[in-house]
Amino acid sequence: MSNNQHLVIISLDSLGFRDIDEHQSELPTLNKLVKGGTWVKKVTGIYPTLTYPSHTTIITGQYPSVHGIVNNTKIQPERRSPDWFWYQKDVKSPTLYDLARQKNLKTAAFLWPVTAGSKINYNLAEIFPNRIWTNQVLVSLKASSPLFILEMDKKYGKLRQGIKQPELDDFITACAVDTIKNKRPNLTLLHLVDMDSMRHRYGVRSDDAIDALHRLDHHVSQVVEATKEAGTFEDTNFVILGDHYQINVDKMIHLNTMFAKRGWLVSKPDQTFKKNWQVMAKTCDGCTYIYTKNFGQLERLRDLISGVEGIEKIYSAQEAAKRGADPKCTLMVEAKAGYYFTDESDRASVVEKVLPEMMGDADRYQGVHGYDPNKSGYKTTVIFNGPMIKSNHTVEKANLVDEAPTFAKLLGLKFPEPLAGQAIDDVFLN
Ligand SMILES: [Zn+2]
Repeated sequence: MSNNQHLVIISLDSLGFRDIDEHQSELPTLNKLVKGGTWVKKVTGIYPTLTYPSHTTIITGQYPSVHGIVNNTKIQPERRSPDWFWYQKDVKSPTLYDLARQKNLKTAAFLWPVTAGSKINYNLAEIFPNRIWTNQVLVSLKASSPLFILEMDKKYGKLRQGIKQPELDDFITACAVDTIKNKRPNLTLLHLVDMDSMRHRYGVRSDDAIDALHRLDHHVSQVVEATKEAGTFEDTNFVILGDHYQINVDKMIHLNTMFAKRGWLVSKPDQTFKKNWQVMAKTCDGCTYIYTKNFGQLERLRDLISGVEGIEKIYSAQEAAKRGADPKCTLMVEAKAGYYFTDESDRASVVEKVLPEMMGDADRYQGVHGYDPNKSGYKTTVIFNGPMIKSNHTVEKANLVDEAPTFAKLLGLKFPEPLAGQAIDDVFLN
């Protein structure tokens, strides 16, 4: 049946509509894919526009409120560095890769978020983003395909230096290229993070970020070449997508510092706080969740938050859920462009400027995401190219939730339950 069908999905983390719009002519590979394929220009992300929730939406077609990955990290206020949602067991919706496996299609994934512990045939799971590949090989072994990860590390481990970029993407691309050539997976999921890292550190449209975009273009060409060597190019549909864009920032908002001053939580010197909290902020950078326990002063809380500099909007739990975010929150607070939230509970002031000398410290950024997907100039994008795709065609807009049903159609698969979006039919040749 469909065993000679191939789909390669490459996520270039933080790729925006603007990147292709402004730099297409300088990017030989992406330019060729756009011209020979269909470019869906403006894609509206999901709320919060974070990497783990977005990547889970991309392969389930559901909003975070349904698939369960409502943030990058778990609620662990007593820990300075909470666990990320690494494991597939936290995903409550069917995934594209499980559907593919059920039809006996071969699957491979390289740093695709929230796939640890999954049944993907060849998987290098993203785990311990702060320490991955350093001294955590054993943890990674448990979370990925053990023999596969050992083989890849033996062959290409020399390319990486911990999680340093661009070396990590070089390593991950080499692993994907090797796997495409030798295993010919039907579905390949590849996540490259170089540009997102550069944007956080140096700003959204900095030279460093645009240099990373050029490196990513080269990585895409290596993957396309691999399918030619594997003899699968003619049967492969390619998708190059972003998960969200970024916005430049220069001020932080520490709502937990304000809550600590009111006595609603007890802060500790390491900026965490004690378990007996009544009100806590749990950041998504451009927005933040507010959770409460046994707390009766909701109006006062709203008034206090709305008086803070840089606050754009406050959503109730019902409104947050309607936008696809965590229905269990008490409030969801959106920052104005230029501001972002931290969870820090013991700062000198609630609003603080981000200074150049802070760069390199934890949670100090020049660019962030997480904002409302409808913020101005903030759309992501997706490019389709291959035997099932119209060439020299553009589609003006779509939603991130429309991608999974489109991918299912490209592999001849069907999700078992209704999805939030629908296939982008205009990309397909008739
Ligand atoms: Zn991302």
